[in-house]
Amino acid sequence: MRYPQTFIDDLKRQADIVRVIQDYVQLKKKGANWMACCPFHKEKTPSFSVSPTKEIFYCFGCHKGGSVFNFVMEMERVAFPEAIKIVAEKSGMPLPKLIDDSRFEARKAESDQVIELNKWALEWWEQQLESSAEGKIARDYLKRREITDETRQTFRLAYAPDSWDALSIYLRQKGAPQEQIDKSGLVVKKEEGGSYDRFRGRLIFPVMDIQGRPIAFGGRTLKDEDAKYINSPETAAYVKGRNLFGLNLTRDEIRRQGFAILVEGFLDLVVPYQFGIRNVVASLGTALTADQVKLVGRFARKVVVNYDGDPAGVQAAKKAIEILLVEDLEVKVLVLPDGTDPDEFIRKFGLIEYQRQRSEAQPHIQFVIDQAVRNRNMHRPAEKADAVEEVLPYIRAVRSRIQKREYFDIAMDSLRISDAALRRELWHSLRLGPDSTRTEQRIVRRTQVKPTIAEEQLLELLLADGQLRRKLLPRLEAEDYDDLPTAGIFRALVESERAGAAVDFDFLSRSIEGDPIADFLPALLMSAPDDAEADQIEDRESTAQKCIDALRLMQVDRRIGDLMAEMAVAERNGATELLDKLSTERLELARRRSTLLPQAQAVQTGQ
Ligand SMILES: [Zn+2]
Repeated sequence: MRYPQTFIDDLKRQADIVRVIQDYVQLKKKGANWMACCPFHKEKTPSFSVSPTKEIFYCFGCHKGGSVFNFVMEMERVAFPEAIKIVAEKSGMPLPKLIDDSRFEARKAESDQVIELNKWALEWWEQQLESSAEGKIARDYLKRREITDETRQTFRLAYAPDSWDALSIYLRQKGAPQEQIDKSGLVVKKEEGGSYDRFRGRLIFPVMDIQGRPIAFGGRTLKDEDAKYINSPETAAYVKGRNLFGLNLTRDEIRRQGFAILVEGFLDLVVPYQFGIRNVVASLGTALTADQVKLVGRFARKVVVNYDGDPAGVQAAKKAIEILLVEDLEVKVLVLPDGTDPDEFIRKFGLIEYQRQRSEAQPHIQFVIDQAVRNRNMHRPAEKADAVEEVLPYIRAVRSRIQKREYFDIAMDSLRISDAALRRELWHSLRLGPDSTRTEQRIVRRTQVKPTIAEEQLLELLLADGQLRRKLLPRLEAEDYDDLPTAGIFRALVESERAGAAVDFDFLSRSIEGDPIADFLPALLMSAPDDAEADQIEDRESTAQKCIDALRLMQVDRRIGDLMAEMAVAERNGATELLDKLSTERLELARRRSTLLPQAQAVQTGQ
């Protein structure tokens, strides 16, 4: 259920942010703005300000800011629809009827039903494991694997009896309609009509969502069957690749430790957990997905990949590394000796030996290089080239520019690429490789999200003054701001000029949605001077020009930095010709730098 968009738009126009906020804090007028002591953090002198013309609030102390709706959401701890309701009431606007989002509601209801049936099935299967005669085969299996009762209960392990319809009958007796059972994934439909139980004679591992509700199951055979594991199909409650096994139990420990150990199978998580290693998640057989990485990334930014040591495990680990790097996580790889998996290893050698191995996990790049060099004769150029090609994608995927360069140098040294020109070419290909321009921008944005003084000041001026925008935006080159953390705002301004759109919080925040810089927008807008007298335009224009010069100076400095690194490599490798060429380039940059320096410095010192 939600409110119609037209109503929300109306409300945005009509709601008076000062009046609404006035109900919560005592605002005092100060210039064009209203000030108060911030309701979100403790303070004695007011740094919380509200701008009626910009329709935003912003606290210079704790940096909270946004629209009137953001304020109410934060203050009342409510979601957006509830904030709409509150603002509408305070603004005297009658609330319209809610739109019934029926498809969403239906899907939600269906998902709840699947989970309900899963709960019934799981409880019944747990009983089968605990006390049925047939369950002995599963109890024996757990005993052989040295899995304790406590562990069994923690993970709610269970046993599905070897029957075509025992579960179906149980569910129907409990009152579940056949139609719901058919949609639950607990049964397999037959072509000729009817259905049979999906999990038969298997040890059951329930997959829980983050709230600990069973959304799917994995079943391990206890006989010698071809399919060692079978899993639930996708249902309204379960989409493959969106969940991680164990995370509902291990999330807090992952957060505490600052890293997660990523394993493949159920037992690779259950057994270490029993031994006291509780910052583990399992990707569940299928290849790791970006959704899963985002999920674990909410709790830690470092991951140790600990897949099986066999060739299939190594392949899976390499795929996982790429996906983890794309999501900007730091990756190490742990390959246990003799191709063992964590389950076997820890039972054989114990916790302390596992922890020792874990502490010596390789940085991802070393692992990738080892794999690339293995079984290749690095004295044969063609094989060497293959190895290089195998490694480069894992460097390209690294987001931090500094780390990328570091990994690149490690790789080039390990792969014995000593020719400086070739190295330079390869480095270049990394940066200009497939879709690298956009990736590159993202890297830069992520590694330095905080804007510099020059860009802040320039943006403040541009945000405040339409006349200045029309004059200055055409002078700006895309490359002046492309590398900057605030690039998204610059692009939005250029776009607004082109489309003739109004430059306000609404337009800008929509244009940069999802960009980390969005957090800075309220601060920038609040600091933007209110549109003042026209005779200031020339002052503003010259200040803005100085900012642009400063930005260009910083860009030159970055290029000089790159060049110096390349020169160091060239020097180390005795590539005199290249070194000469690079020195010439460096001189040119130095000249350009000196022309930009005076104006730019005026800005950086805060004039
Ligand atoms: Zn505050």
